[in-house]
Amino acid sequence: MANSDDLVRERRARLAAERLLKLKQDELHEANRKLSAHARTLSEEVVEKREETKVLRQETDAVRTELETARGAMMIAERRLWESVETIQDGFAVFDGSGVMVAANSAFLTPFDGLDCVAPGIAYPDLLRVAAEEGLVDTDDASREDWVEDMMWRWQSPTIPPRVVRFWNNVFVRLVDRRTEGGDTVSLALNITSTIRNEAKLKQARHKAEAANRAKSAFLANMSHEIRTPMNGVVGMAQLLADSPLDEEQRLYVETIRSSGEALLVLINDVLDYSKIEAERLTLHPEPFDLEVAVYEVVTLLRPSVGTKKLSLLVDYDTFMPTRFMGDPGRVRQILTNLVGNAVKFTETGHVMIRVSCLPDGTGGAQRVHVTVEDTGIGISEDLAEHIFGEFNQVDDDRNRRFEGTGLGLAITKRLVEMMGGQIWVDSVVGEGSSFGCYLQLELAEDADAKVPEPPGWLDRVLFLDPDADARDILRRQLAAQRVRVVVCDAAHDLAAAGPGDGDVVLLDEDVPPPGARGLAGDLRRDGFTGPIYLLSAGATQSGPGVGTEFDGTLPKPLRRLDVVRALATRGAPRPARQTTSAFGPQERRRMRVLAAEDNRTNRLVFSKLVQSADIDLRFVENGRQAVDAFIAERPDIVFMDISMPEVDGRQATQMIRAHEDGSGAAPVPVIAMTAHAMAGDEEKILACGLDRYMTKPLKKDTVLGYLEEFCPDACLSPLGEALKSAV
Ligand code: ADP
Repeated sequence: MANSDDLVRERRARLAAERLLKLKQDELHEANRKLSAHARTLSEEVVEKREETKVLRQETDAVRTELETARGAMMIAERRLWESVETIQDGFAVFDGSGVMVAANSAFLTPFDGLDCVAPGIAYPDLLRVAAEEGLVDTDDASREDWVEDMMWRWQSPTIPPRVVRFWNNVFVRLVDRRTEGGDTVSLALNITSTIRNEAKLKQARHKAEAANRAKSAFLANMSHEIRTPMNGVVGMAQLLADSPLDEEQRLYVETIRSSGEALLVLINDVLDYSKIEAERLTLHPEPFDLEVAVYEVVTLLRPSVGTKKLSLLVDYDTFMPTRFMGDPGRVRQILTNLVGNAVKFTETGHVMIRVSCLPDGTGGAQRVHVTVEDTGIGISEDLAEHIFGEFNQVDDDRNRRFEGTGLGLAITKRLVEMMGGQIWVDSVVGEGSSFGCYLQLELAEDADAKVPEPPGWLDRVLFLDPDADARDILRRQLAAQRVRVVVCDAAHDLAAAGPGDGDVVLLDEDVPPPGARGLAGDLRRDGFTGPIYLLSAGATQSGPGVGTEFDGTLPKPLRRLDVVRALATRGAPRPARQTTSAFGPQERRRMRVLAAEDNRTNRLVFSKLVQSADIDLRFVENGRQAVDAFIAERPDIVFMDISMPEVDGRQATQMIRAHEDGSGAAPVPVIAMTAHAMAGDEEKILACGLDRYMTKPLKKDTVLGYLEEFCPDACLSPLGEALKSAV
């Protein structure tokens, strides 16, 4: 029993041991399996890492190579930079944020040659001190300490201003310093010695040139007067010769002499003006003036150049625009004369229209006055539109070549316009016409708001007959602004249809087709119309007395906007004819007494020939003093006064005459200036001395006779003869 129990126990123990063994074996096996899986993972990682390491090593090698290449390139760049900096003649240096020199080229260090302390490492203040104490720089009047202090103040400014420093050896250096973003300061020392020397030379040359220019200008001004006087003889005599009996060939020669002489006078004036502008000696003399009057004066002046062309000259002065401005009237007239003169010259048929308008300029009382001169002439091609404003520039083509001119007019005009704060331009179409526009800045005159005369109370309508549609339109607008009713008619039947009656005024243009203005006026009278009839005549310079029995008066053409109202205002109630106002019949009238003061013998001869057809008593004197004596002794009806005369000149003589009239209470005698002073602006100066009108030499027969007629008193016989007068 005991043995079997032992056996059972033993067997149980063995089975337990075997189970334990089996368990341990399983655990061992599991551990082994994990170990080998880990080992496998590890080995895979090792392989991976090895691969990565290899790639990294390759990359590192590549980077190292690139780095070396970059370092090589950098060294080459740095070497090149420094070699370049070394080759430039100007100084170059870099200072760090604390003002210590980091690097400098030899040009920067050259002035400090032999001073070993001036090298990279030196502080900027020490550099300045060395420069001052060693006497390397010229400190002007400042002490060395002050100079250093001043230069340090400059160096410390947030933006360092450039500075020119003069070295002991007369070398001029311009210091230009800039701060970099990193806080360094880069200094350039530019050698400007040759520039300074050239500037000095240029300054000297300019002074010399200006002196020469002034001398040239003065010479031209004097010569102009000297040349004009004999030219007066040439042109005047040619004019007289042209009026005498001549055969065809002789007439051609004489005409050539006359027109060449006149062209030469224009040229003299242009050259003189241009040389004045060039020498900057042309100054504007602003004074109150009437712009509208100036425009019409220019038109009147240029009317003769229209000659036989079928060309109407029109003025459209903005109805609501003031007329009185501050400006240089002579120069404003010169601008207008050039533009309108060109328009007339280059236009054969159609019209030349001058439009004037203005806008406030926004600054103070200045106005922007716009002037447009529009023509229907030959036009200018677009590519030459700028060219023509240059000096001596003309359009050189077949259509243009036949016209005379200097090519200076527009250049002068452009400069004058610019002097008046304006600009000039042109729009043009070849074959259709041109429109020159400009604006000027002009202040309003103090009396700009002067009252204009009111239309008389009896006036009902103005009946206006003119074949020109533009002229009709302008007058209609202008009179409408005066609150006058206007009926515009373009043919006689329109006028008849309007039925002129009481309170109406009739204006007839001289160009109305047959039966013509005179015929129509006669018809109206026969039909019983007794109201005023005025003739609009291009030849009239201002409102004048009636011509013939049909008309009550003549009005100039183009009509000034206030002319009609003014003419009617002075006229009072309808219709006293001229003949009835005169207290003298033709038998009781005497001849007009004309006094002419002229020192030059040729000019006296020219004058006497010009007026030889006039029925007058002419007396000559040879200087201003004699003119005053003759005036007191003989009381002439008109005086023609030369301006440049010995002893007492024309201006002084006129002032003396005016003083005498004031003292004696006598009515002022008309005094007409005759002068070779044809510069723009001269007219105003001369008229300011009490003269009434102004004529430039060479004198024109028509102008002289026109003045005789204009100023003929009622008590005198008409200088042109009654027959001539009524034949207008
Ligand atoms: P000028 O008339 O004395 O030749 P300008 O300087 O006044 O000199 O004019 C220069 C040129 O411009 C003229 O020669 C002409 O060719 C051209 N020109 C000026 N105005 C006109 C115009 N209204 N129509 C056509 N051409 C013009």
